[in-house]
Amino acid sequence: MTRVKTGSSPRALPAVFFDRDGVINISPGPGRYVESPEEFHLIPEFPQVLRIVLTLGYEAVVVTNQRGIALGRMSIESLNAIHGKMKDLLAREGLAFRDIQTCLSGDDSDSRRKPNPGMLLEAARKFGLDLPRSWMIGDSETDIEAGQRAGCRTIRICTEESETKATVRVRNLAELTEYVQTRFLPAEDFRNPKGE
Ligand SMILES: [Mg+2]
Repeated sequence: MTRVKTGSSPRALPAVFFDRDGVINISPGPGRYVESPEEFHLIPEFPQVLRIVLTLGYEAVVVTNQRGIALGRMSIESLNAIHGKMKDLLAREGLAFRDIQTCLSGDDSDSRRKPNPGMLLEAARKFGLDLPRSWMIGDSETDIEAGQRAGCRTIRICTEESETKATVRVRNLAELTEYVQTRFLPAEDFRNPKGE
C-alpha cells in the first residue's frame, strides 16, 4: 500500500508500539535476558501481525527495556547484533519497524524505563504520532502502564488468570493477529476521512 501524503497540514499518524520479549521474540523468561543473536527467536506469528499493522498504515515502533547492559549481562554490541538479527529476519519478509526505542537503564526512576512512558513520548515527538489513536502491545503489566500513561490504548498478551488494566487481553499471538486483523481501523481513515 502506498502511503499518500496529505496537503499542507497532514494529521498525525497513529502508531503501534511493540514490547520486544514475549511479543516479537520468544521471551527468555522472568529475570532472564536474550544475551546474543543465537538466543533471539522470532515468534512465528509476529511477522503477520506487523504486516497487518503496516498495511493498515500505522507506524510500528519497538519499545524495549534492556537493563541487561546496566547489569553487565551483555554489551551494547551484543544488543546491536540482536536487533540486527531482528531487522534481518523481518526484512526477509519485506517488513521493517519505523524505530527501535531501547532503555538501557536499570533505574526504575528513569523516565524512559517502562512503566514510565518516556520511550513512547520520545517516539511521538520524533515522528509526530497521534497517541490517543495508538496502541501499546506487551506481555507485562509494565507495558500496559507505560501505554496508558502515554495516552494509548493497550493490548496485553497474557493468561486468563493474570490481572490486567489493558483495554484488550489476548492469550497468544494467534489471538493478537485475529484482533488486529478484525478490529484495528485503517490509519488513513483517521488522517483522511473523506478519502481526498
Ligand atoms: Mg515483554
